[in-house]
Amino acid sequence: MDDPRDNKPSSVIEIAPDGDVILVVGPEKVKLRVVSLFLKAASKPFSAMFGPNWKEGNDMLGQDGPVELLLPEDNVDALKLICAVIHHRNNKVPQSLAAGDVLEVAFTADKYDCVDALKFASGNWLLPGKKQPEDLMLLTAAAYLFQNAQAFKEITRQLILNHDGPYLALSCEEVESAITWRVFCLLEGQRSFARLKLAEILIAGINDGTGMCVHKCGWTSKHAYAYLKLLERKDLWPARLLHISLSKAIDLAEKMPDPIPEEPSTACTYEYKHAAPEYRENRCWSLDTLNNSIGLCLYCIQSGGTNSYCNHSSSEA
Ligand SMILES: [Zn+2]
Ligand SMILES: [Zn+2]
Repeated sequence: MDDPRDNKPSSVIEIAPDGDVILVVGPEKVKLRVVSLFLKAASKPFSAMFGPNWKEGNDMLGQDGPVELLLPEDNVDALKLICAVIHHRNNKVPQSLAAGDVLEVAFTADKYDCVDALKFASGNWLLPGKKQPEDLMLLTAAAYLFQNAQAFKEITRQLILNHDGPYLALSCEEVESAITWRVFCLLEGQRSFARLKLAEILIAGINDGTGMCVHKCGWTSKHAYAYLKLLERKDLWPARLLHISLSKAIDLAEKMPDPIPEEPSTACTYEYKHAAPEYRENRCWSLDTLNNSIGLCLYCIQSGGTNSYCNHSSSEA
């Protein structure tokens, strides 16, 4: 993102060499030469600033050279990237960006009401990849500001599946100035619910319809007992789920084989009907459904919803 030549205060970064405006950005007073028409098309606040009712707009009338606009509070790198995107200068727009930088761009884009113009560029920056939880939290805040429901769902999904510590510990001033406390509550709420749901799926295995013998010979109960013992041995007893990440627990549950009972079989008239229960195969669907339901809904959070699950599709709107 940084080009040392670009940051010399004395030089002008020519986003548009024939631009009619020079933005003088940040305390460093870095100058960005841009075209006012592009800024007006992408951003309502800039459109107002360059309109006839503002000093800058008036200064531009009948002036030969470019007009300077002082923006001392803005972040240079973020505004430079935003200008590059809206001037179609794709050679100055990186495919990926550090999570903290993405959030800086999101703050500036939100301030100048131009998140829509950055929709495609920011879509790439918001891909969660294999980032650390702290970075995912920064990206959650950025996806919230960029109003990208799909990215918001995917990033929060990674946080819920892969992080097993408290979410508040991942917060920082930047994150808190972008998202509300409700996001933290919903992250905790959805992860707790998912752990409970996983415990239910695992315990409910003993009621599996396959492998039942209704003739009180003990065939069903010896399998069920072996299954419960196996849950304990594989670290999948409900209380243990609090201490490992959901993705690890789901992975263990998917890989857990069906149990082999240790007790000998008792005689049964209907022994020819006995078949071992297929616990593993029969919990696949429930595990998949649980896995696919993870992730927070941006629409619900924006409308003040407090449920961690809903029926919105993240590609809506
Ligand atoms: Zn039997
Ligand atoms: Zn929703």
